[in-house]
Amino acid sequence: MSIRLIIDVDRCKGCELCLDICPRQVLVISKSLNTSGSHFPQMVPGRECSGCRQCAIICPEAAIEIERISSTQQGKAPGTSRLAKKIKDGTAYRTPIRQLTAQARRQGHLTRQDIRERLKTLLDDEINLDDFVLLFREKGIDVHD
Ligand code: SF4
Ligand code: SF4
Repeated sequence: MSIRLIIDVDRCKGCELCLDICPRQVLVISKSLNTSGSHFPQMVPGRECSGCRQCAIICPEAAIEIERISSTQQGKAPGTSRLAKKIKDGTAYRTPIRQLTAQARRQGHLTRQDIRERLKTLLDDEINLDDFVLLFREKGIDVHD
């Protein structure tokens, strides 16, 4: 079982309650701004989230979700996780998706490395990069390996 923290950065108002309550100091506030001009939380690389959900419960904007992934789910095909559904619905990762879409227009394509680079400050090690690759390919964007 592993834990994936899903932060909808554009919902965040930057109150930092999630940082204060986290017993493992997993979260820090980003230097970047979301679409409302707020600094949002991101995970500290290497810190382990216990999945206690305290951050999700205290968040007044319901911007945080915890996804528990069983070992059998970890190997499943992209596009089927709850994260993939939220990405497709446009309820998660709207800002980086918009930025990557603009980058693809400029370059004519994206690489997996482009996607990984853009998302690395927002996501933990558990991100299924294939969910994002699938999303961009469904938008008609050419994604190279
Ligand atoms: S789920 Fe618990 S350990 Fe993980 S970031 Fe939230 S408060 Fe911290
Ligand atoms: S508690 Fe919610 S609104 Fe406040 S900083 Fe954390 S994610 Fe943003």
